[in-house]
Amino acid sequence: MRLPMKLFNLTKRYLLALGLIATLSISAFCIVYWVIHTQETYASIINISGRQRMLSQKAALLGTQLLHCKNEAEEIEIRNQLYEVKTLLEISHKGLISGNAALNLPGKPSKEIQALYFSSPVLLDQQIRTFISHIDSLLKEPGQKLTYNNPHLVYLQNAARGELLKSLDSVVKQYELEAQQHIKRLQFLEIIIVSLTLMLLLFEALFIFRPLVRHVYKETSQLRNYNNQLQVLSSYDSLTGIANRRFFDQHLAKEWEGAVISSSWLSLILIDIDFFKNFNDTYGHQAGDRCLAEVASALHASLNRSSDFVARYGGEEFAVILPDTDCRGAMLVAEKLRREIENLRIPHAKSAVADYVTVSIGLSSTMPVQYNNPEKLIAEADDALYSAKRAGRNRVMHYVKYFNK
Ligand code: GH3
Ligand code: MG
Ligand code: MG
Repeated sequence: MRLPMKLFNLTKRYLLALGLIATLSISAFCIVYWVIHTQETYASIINISGRQRMLSQKAALLGTQLLHCKNEAEEIEIRNQLYEVKTLLEISHKGLISGNAALNLPGKPSKEIQALYFSSPVLLDQQIRTFISHIDSLLKEPGQKLTYNNPHLVYLQNAARGELLKSLDSVVKQYELEAQQHIKRLQFLEIIIVSLTLMLLLFEALFIFRPLVRHVYKETSQLRNYNNQLQVLSSYDSLTGIANRRFFDQHLAKEWEGAVISSSWLSLILIDIDFFKNFNDTYGHQAGDRCLAEVASALHASLNRSSDFVARYGGEEFAVILPDTDCRGAMLVAEKLRREIENLRIPHAKSAVADYVTVSIGLSSTMPVQYNNPEKLIAEADDALYSAKRAGRNRVMHYVKYFNK
């Protein structure tokens, strides 16, 4: 089945919006992942560059300790430690400048960082290299010749307390600053993506769901209207405008149930126009139709209670359901109906009972119980109607008592 154009367009819009939301969600996920990754990388950079600072201090301290060794073993131990410090300094320095995957260092320093390392006045790269070369030279000096005035030791102590310490501090600060700026930029991007997603959802609500709901609502109310019309068409007789046989059957079943529950009386009246075949033959079929409509509206107008129900039972026969009405009440109503039709004074030259249209009526009353059904009531009323016909027409007969009019 093909979708109507409007629904097709709405579906297209919906799919497009869904696609965009999916793209934005994936982007948001990537950005979060990127923020975490960046934070980890900067944490490593700041940690390693901070360690450089600590290593420079340790190198100066170990250099001083070399002067005070009590024995050879202690001297070897300190020299080993100093060698280790030097190696770590070298690895960290190289990693910070050119990268080291094991240390999670990307090795792509910014222009500002590069300026600190390679340009005046800081020239940190040169400072670290010189510092390392002095450690190297100090390690090569024999222990017994070491004095406080050793130029390498003096350099290490001065650098560790002065210029190098300051430069390492400034590079750590620069790394921290860049980390903050970078994360701020990513967070800004995240806010943009979240706002875009919210805007898209609003767009969906306004331009997809609202028209869709309206469309569905319109279609449903139209369908409900058609249904009601169909219900009316299938429940009423088009010629007379009163309920048809189908509606009568449903209504009788409902009233029967009601009477069973409330243990009340239920009466059924069957009405048949006398010598109607003759009427048609004399006045024509169209006049017959008009007569049927007139009789139907007279019957309808004669019923007082809102619960009383009249239907065209078939051909020139009508049926009336009287809930909560016993045989005496039903007899009164039936007699009233007979008289009303008589009083219409519709000329009927070929009737054997009067000069105008008359009806014969049969009725039956019962107090329905669960094991009975309305068919019996109909059969009894029909039986009474047959008796009324046989008794001479234009009269009312009750099933049990066969009251005459
Ligand atoms: P009785 O007094 O015994 O009831 O005789 P009757 O002629 O009324 O009964 P019968 O059953 O012989 O004929 C009923 C007639 O009602 C036959 C049919 O032409 C007519 N009739 C049934 N339905 C319609 C209708 O919708 N329009 C018209 N004009 N006539 C109808
Ligand atoms: Mg008949
Ligand atoms: Mg008849």
